[in-house]
Amino acid sequence: MALKALDIYKLLPKKNCKECGDPTCLTFAMKLAGGKTDVELCPYLDDAAKAVLGATTRPPIRLVKLGIGERSFVVGEEFVFYRHEKTFYHPPGIMFKISDTQTPSDIMAVTTRVRDESFTRVGTDLRFNGIAIENTSGTADSFARAVETVEKTADLPLVLIATDPLAIAAALTHCGTYRPLIHAATAENRKEFCLLAKQHGCPLVIKGKTIDELAQLAKDCAADGVQDLILDLSPDSFQDFIVKSTTIRQLAITRAAPDLGYPVFLDASIMEMQDAGIALGIAKYASVIVSTPLNPATAKAALTLRQNIYTDPQKPIQMNPGLYRVGEPGKNAPVLMTVNFSLTFFTLQGYLESTRLPCFMLIVDTEGLSVLTAVAAGKLSETLVRDSIKKFAVEDEVSHRKLIIPGYASPLSGRIEEATGWKVMVGPRDAAEIGEYLHEEWKQ
Ligand code: SF4
Repeated sequence: MALKALDIYKLLPKKNCKECGDPTCLTFAMKLAGGKTDVELCPYLDDAAKAVLGATTRPPIRLVKLGIGERSFVVGEEFVFYRHEKTFYHPPGIMFKISDTQTPSDIMAVTTRVRDESFTRVGTDLRFNGIAIENTSGTADSFARAVETVEKTADLPLVLIATDPLAIAAALTHCGTYRPLIHAATAENRKEFCLLAKQHGCPLVIKGKTIDELAQLAKDCAADGVQDLILDLSPDSFQDFIVKSTTIRQLAITRAAPDLGYPVFLDASIMEMQDAGIALGIAKYASVIVSTPLNPATAKAALTLRQNIYTDPQKPIQMNPGLYRVGEPGKNAPVLMTVNFSLTFFTLQGYLESTRLPCFMLIVDTEGLSVLTAVAAGKLSETLVRDSIKKFAVEDEVSHRKLIIPGYASPLSGRIEEATGWKVMVGPRDAAEIGEYLHEEWKQ
């Protein structure tokens, strides 16, 4: 079981020397309890204390890095079973699969797509993460050539999928120090795959049919010196994946089975319904998901789902409060006030852009709450609006004194008028109606 901060503190040398990077031993203990620092950073701990603290304070699921450079990403280091208990921290990497039997131009097309494609949602650029190259030809030369083609096209994290260690070895000569994920060591080929992972500093997928088999394999690989492991559960159905993935997550986060404390791999492309497999992987703890290149609609759905599952449920995605411009508004442009819940912001902004009427958006700080919730919770008030008008110098930007507020904030209209001295116009409840509203009501 994990130790509490106070128990950890009792084991520390209490010199308050700051050598660990924390101002006091107590803050170091608190961070250790949350798995946010490393016991090795305190030089005064003896080996016995390190052994006790290390086993109970390191993250229950190991952090594993794929690739290097700008597009590299990390997975693992998760702490909870349910998203609402805290949050999920590291979204799964979704890797498009290609085969070494495809032509170089086809391989380049998929690689270029993953390199360049991005979809912006609520202010965040969403992307696929890398390429999984499968040795379907069965020859080491073709595999190495396919990997070389991908490497020459883009610097992306890779998964090398082959059963033959010689094929992996040939492919790795083209990867330099780029740390591709090697797939996959089994009980039969463990020694050869561990050797390659160690030589090239690569993370390694281990594959087993049962949870016990995976635990034993993980233990053996760690003993061979390879600790950056990812678990392939070899699911033969959706149900099989759910059962194994949730069992492993539970055992890992409760530290009941430390040998299973690694991220999970899922090849959705070999499942009967790939799209459902991707959704299942995102929702149920897969950290690396392989799929064939997705059509645009499925691609957006997968990226949106991943973004939603991996946002902090206790912290709505927020915009910075401020005065935002839509187009190039002049002195007579309307000013629309709304909250800093990013979904509200981007929805309204989209509809305002389509009206082609330049305007200002005054975004007030409701701690990311939507209009209705902010009004009900008392987070949206006349004083907040008054202070925001002042803080963001709205009076310097327009010559009129009219403020359009969201329909759901109508109970505050009188109080906002009194507090600000601005004439308040109550806008529609639904942002989709803002174009029609402005057309009919905004006369300057
Ligand atoms: Fe305390 Fe060790 Fe950090 Fe020094 S290095 S402040 S003794 S925890």
